[in-house]
Amino acid sequence: MSEPISTPTNASFSDIGEVLARHQTFVIMSHVRPDGDAIGSQLALGFALMAAGKTVRMINEDGLPENLAFMAGSEKIEFPPSEPLEVEVAIALDTATKPRLGEAALHAASRAQVWLNIDHHISNPKYGDLNLIDSTSPATGQIIYQLLTALALPFPAETRDAIYVAVSTDTGSFQYPSTTALTYDMAADLIRRGLDVGGINTMIYDNYPFRRVELMRALLNTLETSADGLVASWELRDQVRIDLALLPEDSEGLIDIIRAIRGVLLAVFFEELVDGKIRVSMRSKDRRLDVCQIALEFGGGGHSLAAGIRMAGPLKEAKALVLAAIQQRIVANGL
Ligand code: AMP
Ligand code: MN
Ligand code: MN
Repeated sequence: MSEPISTPTNASFSDIGEVLARHQTFVIMSHVRPDGDAIGSQLALGFALMAAGKTVRMINEDGLPENLAFMAGSEKIEFPPSEPLEVEVAIALDTATKPRLGEAALHAASRAQVWLNIDHHISNPKYGDLNLIDSTSPATGQIIYQLLTALALPFPAETRDAIYVAVSTDTGSFQYPSTTALTYDMAADLIRRGLDVGGINTMIYDNYPFRRVELMRALLNTLETSADGLVASWELRDQVRIDLALLPEDSEGLIDIIRAIRGVLLAVFFEELVDGKIRVSMRSKDRRLDVCQIALEFGGGGHSLAAGIRMAGPLKEAKALVLAAIQQRIVANGL
């Protein structure tokens, strides 16, 4: 058992490697309402550690989303057990703030002595004992790739495929400006390691349930644009979620449809959640409009071009507040 090491700055790959080498039992977590990067990073690191002989549990507050159940090894993702796990190390992946791991997951990890925090959100306050936060990385999965290759850890097929899913989904299929030369080098390396690129893309992008297209239709009916045409928004009400029997992941990525409108600099998606809170998802096309800064005003976070908030409802009021904050930024930046 080693003492937690407190570092306000980033740990090196070898610092992280030492913690991985010195311990035997791990719980790996990611944020609530997990996306491809969250689950992909968990599976990538989890399967590498298991191949290195470690005992690993992979938990998520909301379990495994249906749209990611095709991923090899994804059955290893569990809901948090009700009793704390007897593990030495807790690893948070792709999670901008500790509460975003979820209460049940935090309880399950409460006996861990060392916390690792590996992420690419610029707003991450470095809540781990060791932190590896690289906001220049387009996905946490790409940081995991760098870590595993730097440390020469095992690289099983599940890890290889999971890294591809993580990075592809967080870069909008290798399109967003966050995509780097390393991202493409890495993708080439994954293919050389045996990745079936056509097969995996079909599973990610050509395999949506019909209700997702019905959701698209419902959302389009609520589309609004600001008078200057710079902001496009749409909303998802409770009733639509009920009528279409939607799962949380069904809306993943749909915001890109309105982000893609010519002249639109900022796209916003408002959603009524089951608990009455409002989820706000924002995407910017212009570096001068930093959506992370806007999200931080409401206790949210993320990246400069993609950020989110969970805030009090009702939807109408949340919408008015967020759209006003956006307008203020547009005016302040002379856009
Ligand atoms: P989303 O719009 O949900 O796809 O999220 C965009 C980005 O912002 C992702 O990287 C999220 O992890 C991050 N994000 C979303 N919601 C929040 C929140 N409430 N607090 C901090 N970060 C968030
Ligand atoms: Mn994520
Ligand atoms: Mn991510």
